[in-house]
Amino acid sequence: MIPNRSAHADNHPESLGNSMNNVENRPDKPEEACGVFGIYAPEQDVAKLAYFGLYALQHRGQESAGIATFEGERVHLYKDMGLVSQVFNESILQDLVGDLAVGHTRYSTTGSSRKVNAQPAVVETRLGSLALAHNGNLVNTGKLREELVNNNCNLVSTTDSEMIAFAIAEEVNAGKDWLEGAIRAFHRCQGAFSLVIGTPNGIMGVRDPNGIRPLVIGTIEGNPVRYVLASETCGLDIIGAEYLREVQPGEVVWINEEGLASFQWTPKPQRKLCIFEMIYFARPDSVMHNESLYSYRMRLGRRLAQESLVDADLVIGVPDSGIPAAIGYSQISGIPYAEGLIKNRYVGRTFIQPTQNMRESGIRMKLNPLKDVLYGKRVVIIDDSIVRGTTSRKLVKALRDAGALEVHMRISSPPVTHPCFYGIDTDSQDHLIAARMSVEEIAKQLEVDTLAYLTWDGMVEATREDPGSFCSACFTGKYPVPVPEPLKGSKLILEKTSV
Ligand code: SF4
Repeated sequence: MIPNRSAHADNHPESLGNSMNNVENRPDKPEEACGVFGIYAPEQDVAKLAYFGLYALQHRGQESAGIATFEGERVHLYKDMGLVSQVFNESILQDLVGDLAVGHTRYSTTGSSRKVNAQPAVVETRLGSLALAHNGNLVNTGKLREELVNNNCNLVSTTDSEMIAFAIAEEVNAGKDWLEGAIRAFHRCQGAFSLVIGTPNGIMGVRDPNGIRPLVIGTIEGNPVRYVLASETCGLDIIGAEYLREVQPGEVVWINEEGLASFQWTPKPQRKLCIFEMIYFARPDSVMHNESLYSYRMRLGRRLAQESLVDADLVIGVPDSGIPAAIGYSQISGIPYAEGLIKNRYVGRTFIQPTQNMRESGIRMKLNPLKDVLYGKRVVIIDDSIVRGTTSRKLVKALRDAGALEVHMRISSPPVTHPCFYGIDTDSQDHLIAARMSVEEIAKQLEVDTLAYLTWDGMVEATREDPGSFCSACFTGKYPVPVPEPLKGSKLILEKTSV
């Protein structure tokens, strides 16, 4: 049977344009791919819990949000462009009834920013619908797409996530049950995928064989105990779920009325967690390796001070992600820490272009320097990374305009020299400033007095984990899953091949 898209699977899939795909419009930071959430709890308001789970995961993607619930065989889906709090209201959530829910918040990495690409992706099979939420990026999309199109799959979006859903549907329609069909489909996928998959019989949580993107399991007390899946532990905390453990690389967990069952679906899993999750993407209050990322980021700052001390009057951090490292830098260097930049905390991503004057005035829409703190001071400014360098340059100018005598920039990660193909938008290589320039040249370009990056050793040693258990390809070019040449061209490769 050819899988068809569910009739009630979409609400008005019109295009809202893709202005964020213009390089100039994009923030000068690596952008996270997605947040995923799943819950099986028939006695609870699963849609509302999924809403709050996604609300906590909002930092992982701000372009679209969606929730699918299963009421027996029936699937209810709502998804739209915008922030979680903009997409949903009480009345929409009330209509999303069911025993289990799958949620997704998206930033586009494969496929442009359009409503039709919002998730969960819902596909029908002989066993009923499945709803799939994906964090990560496949690197074999060209081949998989060809296989699916040859088998007459009616792909309607340009995302690799929909392809995974259709691959599962194909296997199920060929006679497999949910678990067997899903596992066969996972073997057809290469790259990064942390998935939450809803079915009429239960939910699955899956990580790729390298565990590149995170996925955790939580429990809700009661009789019986119920299970929750989330990209990060902050998605559990917000609904009062207890952190149980990670979904392991190459593991699939199947959660239903009987509880949780675990299966290792691939023979040779290895741990290659994206180290950028720890440096920047994941929320500082999320826990990885039994500690908050706030603690890890403070250690990065301490190590940075040991590696590249400078004589100065003040240490400041670029809010929010540079703050823990700035505090760590201050602790080791003895240089007082202060807030020198105030962030407008109520701005989301805007699709409205600033005026030319505003553009020239720099970054003050989001960050405003505190003149009386900075005036006459030799300032060390700590940031977590530099991608294109455009924002950093404006930031340095803003500090000097506020009266800083010297500006010394310290970065709590090594230079980003290679693009990411596993679900993070780090831009193509020719836009990465560290791929084109030496540290001295970057310092000149940014107009700082001195510039220093953390070493790769410093970054991985601060994790206190096995250095081999991380992907750090954007710093080294050593990709744990080989990236085919055609994919290296563009993050929008599927746009070019879409029919
Ligand atoms: S290439 Fe960089 S951003 Fe991408 S998964 Fe690896 S460490 Fe993370």
